Amino acid sequence: MISFSQNQSIMNENFAIVIHGGAGTILKKNMTPAMEKAYQEKLQEALDSGYTILKNGGSAIDAVEKAILVMEDSPLFNAGKGAVYTNASTNELDASIMDGKTLNAGAVAGVSHIKNPIKLARVVMEKSEHIMLSGKGAEDFAKQHQLEMVDSAYFYNEHRLNQLNKIKKTEKIQLDHSDEKNQGDASAFKDSKFGTVGAVALDKHGNLAAATSTGGMTNKKFGRIGDSPIIGAGTYANNATCAVSCTGHGEFFIRNVVAYDVAALMEYKNMRLVDAANYVVKEKLVKLGGEGGLIAIDKHGNIAMPFNTKGMYRGYKKSSGESEILIFKN
Ligand code: ASP
Repeated sequence: MISFSQNQSIMNENFAIVIHGGAGTILKKNMTPAMEKAYQEKLQEALDSGYTILKNGGSAIDAVEKAILVMEDSPLFNAGKGAVYTNASTNELDASIMDGKTLNAGAVAGVSHIKNPIKLARVVMEKSEHIMLSGKGAEDFAKQHQLEMVDSAYFYNEHRLNQLNKIKKTEKIQLDHSDEKNQGDASAFKDSKFGTVGAVALDKHGNLAAATSTGGMTNKKFGRIGDSPIIGAGTYANNATCAVSCTGHGEFFIRNVVAYDVAALMEYKNMRLVDAANYVVKEKLVKLGGEGGLIAIDKHGNIAMPFNTKGMYRGYKKSSGESEILIFKN
């Protein structure tokens, strides 16, 4: 539905936001009612915060950033405060953001002292001549732009440390039996079941945006960077097609250029959003052995939330009034 706003510019009343809080081995039997409630409430808060911006005529970029901020500040998700541990028991965070109107993008990788990596990704997009900054350089840039820095103690999380120790133990058993590793050993993903966060949105002005933030994968080594900060792999937005944010075993998402692949299928093959997203997640990724999922929205406000894992924290809220928070496979 099209209407005229006070300043007489054409406003599209059809807007929506979709979020995810990671995909993986998320089973109802492993979750207490209290935990389930905590996830639902935090997802709802993230969704509502982004939706309010859209409802008030704000931009899709502001909406996705805000939704991610809520999840980065929660210990429930593997992003910001709840980031998983590397093999060296440190936290190295990645994030990216993309504006579908301008195709501008910003990303940061391997940062350890930034409270909200998504804010830094946005500043990279808006205030630097580059797209992706990493490690110390990214942190120097953050300081120059007065972003909030934190001590590594901010990320301390006993539950995450236990996850690390558990994975290290199984890894040792595996190494005792074989010294060969495939690119993207699927078993490594199974235990890091609380994933990455992401958001995609369509605003009243018809603009799309996508954002993703993560602590990466538990036990990652040697400065490993996953798909989340890579434009085209973990995040992509283009007003001509769709906005996408991914979660899952990053190595497979990089090799499949997943986020861009969904947009490309729409652009070059005229596929519908839902068909393109399902094909990439449920056929292409599955063939290669890549576990995970994605959220996507197109310029008409159609949404897709496919995943090939046991569950994915996800939710959407549309201007039509439809809204849902889901965790498990239905
Ligand atoms: N995709 C993220 C990575 O590989 C992890 C996740 O989504 O859980 O770093």
